Amino acid sequence: MTREIFIKRIFDYKLCTFSRGFIPDIVNILTKYNLNYVLGEFLKSGLFPNRCQWKRLVNDHVRNCEEFNLCERMKTDKEFSRFGLLHNKIQPYSIWRLALHFPQYSSCFKQIVKLCVEMRDDENVFLCQYCGLIYNDVILHSVLECSHTESLRDQLWCVLCTIKDVDFVCYLNTLSNYHLLHVLLGGIVNYDLSSYELEDFRVNSIVIVFKILQCSGIL
Ligand SMILES: [Zn+2]
Repeated sequence: MTREIFIKRIFDYKLCTFSRGFIPDIVNILTKYNLNYVLGEFLKSGLFPNRCQWKRLVNDHVRNCEEFNLCERMKTDKEFSRFGLLHNKIQPYSIWRLALHFPQYSSCFKQIVKLCVEMRDDENVFLCQYCGLIYNDVILHSVLECSHTESLRDQLWCVLCTIKDVDFVCYLNTLSNYHLLHVLLGGIVNYDLSSYELEDFRVNSIVIVFKILQCSGIL
């Protein structure tokens, strides 16, 4: 009986003879998450995914849609231009997930997350008090350029060489310093690493970057 009422209401809605009640809400939410085709298929064949399939379908579509919206928002807002390189998923930021497995570094992770959310592109030019070079990105200069932090940077690359294989190190070397910095700060890694390797990479890179930033007096 419920099924018949639902079908009748849907056809009334589609024929524009009845546009109140729960049907417009259902159609709007299905449209929002690109799930209209399921309703179309149901009206055509009477078939509907079972409870388990439907739950999975809804989860996938809602996540994809919200992640797309998140990325679009970050692309169009300069405030998020750098954060978009660090995080683009509807899930806790990678460093917070890392902190669950490495609570001994929680203070370091907390300071790095604070730094990440406050990072902005800067047009101003500064003179480094340690090496005398001119820069406009204090974090990038400290982590990847400054001679004052060279020994820690060498330590970083030695550790990175042990994470996977030489191709992974080559991949990191192909990145611009700007992108590499974000990858080292827990950002998106476009390389095929297992979850263990990725975690190993992230914890090591973040802890050494933290030491570099402390050495430069930034943290
Ligand atoms: Zn310097």
